[in-house]
Amino acid sequence: MAGRVPITVAYGDGIGPEIMEATLRIIQAAGANIEIETIEIGEKVYLRGVETGMEPGAWDSLRRTKVFLKAPITTPQGGGYKSLNVTVRKALGLYANVRPCVSYHPFVRTKHPNMDVVIVRENEEDLYAGIEHRQTDQVYQCLKLITRPGSEKVIRYAFEYARVHNRKKVTCFVKDNIMKLTDGLFHKVFDEIAAEYPDIEHETWIVDIGAAKLADTPEQFDVVVMPNLYGDVLSDVAAQIAGSVGLAGSANIGEHFAMFEAIHGSAPRRAGQNLANPSGLLLAAVMMLVHIGQPDVAMRVHNAWLKTIEDGIHTYDIFKEGVSRQKVGTREFADAVIDRLGEQPQVLKPVSYGTSESLSLWRKKDRPKAEKRLVGVDVFLDWDKGSPNDLGNSLSQVSAGPLQLRVITNRGVKVWPDGLPETFCTDHWRCRFLGREGEDVQPAHVVQLLERVIQAGFDPIKTENLYLFDGVPGFSAVHG
Ligand code: NAD
Repeated sequence: MAGRVPITVAYGDGIGPEIMEATLRIIQAAGANIEIETIEIGEKVYLRGVETGMEPGAWDSLRRTKVFLKAPITTPQGGGYKSLNVTVRKALGLYANVRPCVSYHPFVRTKHPNMDVVIVRENEEDLYAGIEHRQTDQVYQCLKLITRPGSEKVIRYAFEYARVHNRKKVTCFVKDNIMKLTDGLFHKVFDEIAAEYPDIEHETWIVDIGAAKLADTPEQFDVVVMPNLYGDVLSDVAAQIAGSVGLAGSANIGEHFAMFEAIHGSAPRRAGQNLANPSGLLLAAVMMLVHIGQPDVAMRVHNAWLKTIEDGIHTYDIFKEGVSRQKVGTREFADAVIDRLGEQPQVLKPVSYGTSESLSLWRKKDRPKAEKRLVGVDVFLDWDKGSPNDLGNSLSQVSAGPLQLRVITNRGVKVWPDGLPETFCTDHWRCRFLGREGEDVQPAHVVQLLERVIQAGFDPIKTENLYLFDGVPGFSAVHG
């Protein structure tokens, strides 16, 4: 067939080969115009000593095809094995994780019969940058990184997805009442991009109450976009309350690559018995077909699958006496979907797809850089020699150029000057030095200050420079 789209396929472990075989059979019967390159990943590769779990040639295939349909794998027990998903996500720059969470009432048991939510999770940054440090005997930290381009990419993707899939609303979840700079940036970028999509409603919720509403009344949400950690937690909650973790597929989208997979694992105990439900991987393949510009095939497959579900042809995991009509194995389920290609569901809502080739995705824009001015430094100390007043009194004797001690906090709480004696203190102190009014602070002053702090017998464990960007503080204020 002319113009076949090359895709990379991995059959994975456990039930992986069976559900992949069923999925490929269905989409090819529906007319998917694809050329399959198979790669080996997972347990066998790990056990051969490849710590990423992917054979070396796999990357060449992925670089060629840029589209990856992946079955679940088994991560061997014991330490030392890198998460294959995290490796692929980072290596291929897959910035958006898209997970439709749909209920199929009355055919699959759910508390939320009208749920149809798509979670779009930022996939590369936030607390998942993996930058952690132990700084003192008592204190450990994990760096939360939110970037403007990272936020722009995923938020624009959410709006474009909404437009192509005829969705009405995009909701943003953040915690910017607390994390004013990081989550504040995500919120700000959301508002900026929302303004470019006047045809799509938008709203923002603080993640705690937003999550509670999502779990209680998911039918009020449509597309929901959020930073990595909230998305990690809430995409599982959403899939679970739809009643169908085993039925959900997901897409990992990058600028140049995309990966599609079921959300469940390799279910080793069910492997090789023709029992597993191939639906999660099949619905991931439907997303892949939209992605590679074959929305008509995607629609045929998805509607035939919906018809199979409503005809009560169910694998063991969703089989329910009184609702289901026939309990089938993986192969027979695939046959039933193929038999229904060209049919539409009668009770469940049929789907229709536009092509995601028309998505207008993130492009690097030349933005004027903000003017950055150094105004001070936070010096963090490892110290356990006395009270906050002892620390403040000796440290206020130390200065460099215009830099003078203004305030000390412990776990973010002000303890000097005028702290409360009741405040619990650890061995981790943030000492904020600011320049005197009207005097410029130079990087050399920071170095000089550190030398003097060390000479005075203290143990600085890190510093954070304090900048104004176009006159706006790029650091959180100290309250109290
Ligand atoms: P799992 O998702 O494999 O299984 C959880 C439960 O759901 C089991 O009872 C299983 O039988 C059932 N189940 C899952 N998929 C099913 C399907 N398609 N049809 C019918 N029943 C199904 O989770 P687990 O048991 O925690 O993990 C097993 C292995 O999978 C582990 O090695 C884990 O590391 C791996 N895993 C891989 C991925 C991935 O590759 N993306 C994701 C999650 C877990």
